[in-house]
Amino acid sequence: MKRGAGIVSVGDELLAGRVLDTNAHRLSSALRAAGFPVMARATVGDDPPRIAAAIRAARAEAAAVVVTGGLGPTKDDLTREGVALALGVPLRRSAAAEAMLRATYERLGRPVPPGSEVQADLPEGCEPVKNLRGTAPGLLFEDDDGVLFVAPGVPSELDGMLAENLLPTLARRPERGPAPHLRQVTLAGVTEAVAGNLVADLMTRGRDPIVGSYPKQGRVVLALESFAEPPDEAERRLDRDVATIRARLAESVVGDGDVPLQEVVARLLLERGLTFALAESMTGGAVADALVEVPGISASFLAGYVTYSNRAKRDALGVP
Ligand code: AMP
Ligand code: MG
Repeated sequence: MKRGAGIVSVGDELLAGRVLDTNAHRLSSALRAAGFPVMARATVGDDPPRIAAAIRAARAEAAAVVVTGGLGPTKDDLTREGVALALGVPLRRSAAAEAMLRATYERLGRPVPPGSEVQADLPEGCEPVKNLRGTAPGLLFEDDDGVLFVAPGVPSELDGMLAENLLPTLARRPERGPAPHLRQVTLAGVTEAVAGNLVADLMTRGRDPIVGSYPKQGRVVLALESFAEPPDEAERRLDRDVATIRARLAESVVGDGDVPLQEVVARLLLERGLTFALAESMTGGAVADALVEVPGISASFLAGYVTYSNRAKRDALGVP
């Protein structure tokens, strides 16, 4: 039985670099948490043969394939055609989708615009999925071979269908795997390469938990993930590996979770009851700006000076 998920993002604007593919990003974490880890993502333009090829490739290896974008009524929205091509079926006007479309426009107090009826032309065998936040119905195709779910590109419409339709559909599929258990550890004052050498054995592919490392704005985050069952066993393994990381990386570990460095610094200051003032030059106040993001910092932060000119450093700070 196939497992996992594939994502196909459709839109010329994604390939052109005009719009960032935030849908694939949110879908990846939601599908992983739902027991369908994403194995591959593809981005294609508004071109039926390419859409079809990407869907076929994704369905060949994944139990759930989610497509977003290109369900609008305009000439450049061609995902319905691409899905029909992938499934080898014709498009047919769906009475159920037509009723959804009419109901949507009735709610808006407007007639269905000429040309928009094409949104009710569905690949044969696909069920229309209600869209409560926009006009384009989604598509659901489900058989023993898996699930194909097609949602509009508008992020809020995708999110609505994800919560209301896709996740409930996936929850009752036999291909559903365990949800991952996660931990993160934040390191500072150590490079990713040095940290990676110290925990190389925990990063071996295929291990559970698997540890990944991500350099991030002045820190290195180690992410631990376990798919072990039952959940107690996953938690036990994560506890053990976090303890190993803490033992090996010692004072380089500055926090549990993915903690921005300003939070680490603020916590140390507040714990010790220390106050501080800042004098910044080249940073133009960036250090103060980062620290004031931390709730409660006013108990510790007295004042900040942005002294950009030599004269200001001399006059305000007394720097010779
Ligand atoms: P469409 O469903 O293709 O008509 O797209 C509707 C709107 O959603 C447009 O503004 C797109 O740029 C946007 N959109 C489409 N795909 C994505 C995506 N993968 N991530 C974020 N926005 C998208
Ligand atoms: Mg589009």
